[in-house]
Formats: sequence, structure tokens, C-alpha cells
Amino acid sequence: MIKHCCEDMAYHANFKCDIHKNPFDCPDKIIVFDDRDKDYGLIIHDGGSSSIAIDFCPWCGSKL
Ligand SMILES: [Zn+2]
Ligand SMILES: [Zn+2]
Repeated sequence: MIKHCCEDMAYHANFKCDIHKNPFDCPDKIIVFDDRDKDYGLIIHDGGSSSIAIDFCPWCGSKL
């Protein structure tokens, strides 16, 4: 298990939706976490599969 910086990040990074198999289709899924690269990304819900890499936690401000 990866230790995330805060509860909010852990919740969103681990969030899995029962309805949407593809996280990019789910409006509730806002953070993608790549546990191989330890990269966090903010999903852009534009109908595609784009995300913005983020270096700081949007909730607690920690360096990721
Ligand atoms: Zn955090
Ligand atoms: Zn969903």
C-alpha cells in the first residue's frame, strides 16, 4: 500500500467507481495515480483521456 500525503488524496487516488470502468468516464474520479511512476494526475473531463500532472497536493499542499 502506498502512503499518500493526506486522507483526501488517499481517498481520491484509491477511489474506484462501480459504474464507470474507465476512470476518465467518471465525473467523480478526479485523481489518477500511477503507482509505478508515483505520478499523480488531475483528470480533465473533456470526453478524452487527458490529465494534468500535479506536483503538489490540491488538498494539503504537500510536494508529491
Ligand atoms: Zn495531501
Ligand atoms: Zn462513476
